Amino acid sequence: MNRILVTGGAGFVGSHLCERLLNEGNEVVCLDNFFTGKKSKIIHLLDNPYFELVRHDITMPYYIEVDEIYNLACPASPVHYQYNPIKTIKTSVMGAVNLLGLAKRIRAKILQASTSEVYGDPAIHPQTEDYWGNVNPIGIRSCYDEGKRCAESLFVNYYVQNNVRIKIIRIFNTYGPKMEPDDGRVVSNFIVQALQNKDITIFGDGQQTRSFQFVSDLVEGMIRMMATGDDFTGPVNIGNPGEFTMLELAENILELTGSKSKIIYLPLPEDDPTQRQPDISLAKEKLGGWEPKVPLQEGLKQTIHYFDQLLSEK
Ligand code: NAD
Ligand code: UDP
Repeated sequence: MNRILVTGGAGFVGSHLCERLLNEGNEVVCLDNFFTGKKSKIIHLLDNPYFELVRHDITMPYYIEVDEIYNLACPASPVHYQYNPIKTIKTSVMGAVNLLGLAKRIRAKILQASTSEVYGDPAIHPQTEDYWGNVNPIGIRSCYDEGKRCAESLFVNYYVQNNVRIKIIRIFNTYGPKMEPDDGRVVSNFIVQALQNKDITIFGDGQQTRSFQFVSDLVEGMIRMMATGDDFTGPVNIGNPGEFTMLELAENILELTGSKSKIIYLPLPEDDPTQRQPDISLAKEKLGGWEPKVPLQEGLKQTIHYFDQLLSEK
């Protein structure tokens, strides 16, 4: 049994990760400041004697003895990370300093939930880990992109300078049950709009692409990455290479929900990446043949079912 700290554990991905780690017989400490996270996502775990919930903000130091740290704390939806950009940068940068300092002192392994956003609006396609990216350092997405890039730099330097046992994964767009209806990301927006027969809001012409990964595939990749030897630090891409335009995504969701919604076109936000697709060769090689198992249609059906129930309860 390992003692594991999950920061951002009451968020969308973190709540799935806490559940899986507990199911595998670990002791889990879930730390969250509840900015976008909710107690309702982990409430069913509170009776488990091996689960602890801590309200804390990672911009402040935190002291605990654990074997492993998964650092997921950071708002991930553009709407949320742009709400307080300075706080977003502090969360990525000061949070990384605090948790790396902790990992150094207690000799814990520490995994950073980085992002495909480090590639910005990528000039190479699909994206491999050796691509340095194309990020506007002063644009509206920079609080997130540059914060995550700085966190990667901190992780690598704590490894080189202090032998901290680091792991960096670059997560591509992930979706699934336990997303919030007002999260603001595209999959949840389109599904909620379709279920309520409201207009489907495509930003721009809908020809920009994303590659969508179902959350269980991500969690499997995270756990496999944490289990790799200390000489493999990453960064490694974790995503589903299936690439779709936003128009294709909208049409898919309209068909699966049988919705009467109309598609409408709204202005494209500044610096919105035009394309995104992970090259997952490294993950396959280093993570014991890991690859995504859940195709988009199947993952969307499960996510639609979740939102349908959630909205009818409300
Ligand atoms: P989310 O917003 O649902 O979860 C983030 C969690 O972090 C929330 O529970 C929030 O309350 C908590 N948090 C935020 N700031 C904090 C702080 N200062 N101190 C403590 N807790 C804090 O987002 P998510 O989709 O679950 O993303 C989890 C992680 O994975 C994030 O680091 C995100 O950048 C990364 N990621 C996610 C995706 C994706 O598509 N879901 C893609 C790339 C990277
Ligand atoms: N998007 C959209 N309609 C929405 C929300 C998002 O067309 O209601 C687009 C957005 O402009 C982007 C893509 O969908 O091109 C993915 O957006 P999301 O916020 O989910 O994540 P991103 O990958 O941009 O961080």
